[in-house]
Amino acid sequence: MDDIAADPSHPRYASLLMRHRLEVAAERGMLAGSAMIAHGRGEAFDYLLGERTTESARQASLQALAHLHHATRPVLSVNGNVAALASDAMLRLAAFLSCPLEVNIFYRTPERMKAILSFLDERKNALGLDVEVLGHAPDATIPGLKGPRAACHKDGILTSDAILVPLEDGDRCEALVNMGKTVIVIDLNPLSRSARLATVTIVDELSRALEIMLDATEDLTKLAIDADYDHRDVLDAGLQEMLNGLKKD
Ligand code: ATP
Ligand code: MG
Repeated sequence: MDDIAADPSHPRYASLLMRHRLEVAAERGMLAGSAMIAHGRGEAFDYLLGERTTESARQASLQALAHLHHATRPVLSVNGNVAALASDAMLRLAAFLSCPLEVNIFYRTPERMKAILSFLDERKNALGLDVEVLGHAPDATIPGLKGPRAACHKDGILTSDAILVPLEDGDRCEALVNMGKTVIVIDLNPLSRSARLATVTIVDELSRALEIMLDATEDLTKLAIDADYDHRDVLDAGLQEMLNGLKKD
């Protein structure tokens, strides 16, 4: 799947690999027209971070995993970019949590939904994982949203108590927060509405953040929810890391 021309020793290999995954996904009809723009914005912020996981991002990832692990009905939301970049990691995390993955895209068309669902199905079979993948038959709506982007599954997003929504749009993030859910966002832009509104925001590149979470599943002793966790403090620390990066000579 990841057969790219670049050598893994290339200093920008990880970035080239992610771009390649998006190209493949675009060819399969999984992405909206604006997907590359959203990715480019993420890349710019990642550059400011030095394309590495910061201490505050690691802390946020562990808090996120603790919330998902201790939730009664966790769910992982997947859009086109997330499916393109990190299907395997999302499926592995869902398998660990014994929770469903729900495909929930901003620009919902039957063709894109089908393309994403069939890609996830392929990866699920290739990995031999038993994960429930939802999105094919929405039977509920997210209150406060209009049109096709409100569609969701009753047994998935609607009744979940904790939800991981990587690269989520601000409107939808707000609607999920208003439903009283624990909302966990992965977003490289610490200034986005999603990043600010969420319960826990991981300011890190999607695949790196998921790697930290998956590594942490090996040691369950780290999985306590930190009652003193301060979302705004951690978010501001992410922004500060970027400002420090800019000041370096
Ligand atoms: P908001 O709707 O929250 O105000 P926005 O409209 O500016 O934000 P969207 O296009 O809705 O942004 O969401 C995409 C977000 O995902 C961007 O903030 C971008 O920085 C981030 N992003 C893109 N690719 C990645 C990635 N691989 N890892 C982490 N974050 C990413
Ligand atoms: Mg948006």
